[in-house]
Amino acid sequence: MDQNDIRVQKCGEILEHYGFEAQQEKLVEECEELIEAAQGEDYDSFIEELADVTIMIAQMNLALTDEQSEQFESMINYKLARTLDRIKAEVNT
Ligand SMILES: [Mg+2]
Repeated sequence: MDQNDIRVQKCGEILEHYGFEAQQEKLVEECEELIEAAQGEDYDSFIEELADVTIMIAQMNLALTDEQSEQFESMINYKLARTLDRIKAEVNT
């Protein structure tokens, strides 16, 4: 198992233990902490909260159905393409 598989497995164990609803609430808390850290000057706090939110997002990913997961992947691709198109448009004006 590579490092990413091990992380996914650990996230699965945590999600299974606490349940989706509790972890969705935890996601909100961690996002709030990240917002605060991103607005502050403490780099270590920023890294810590970035890690917390990344872990919560990984757990939310695991809770998605196959259909939701496909929708999520498509949305990421759409958003990336849209932003790159905007950048190209900016460069060409
Ligand atoms: Mg935190």
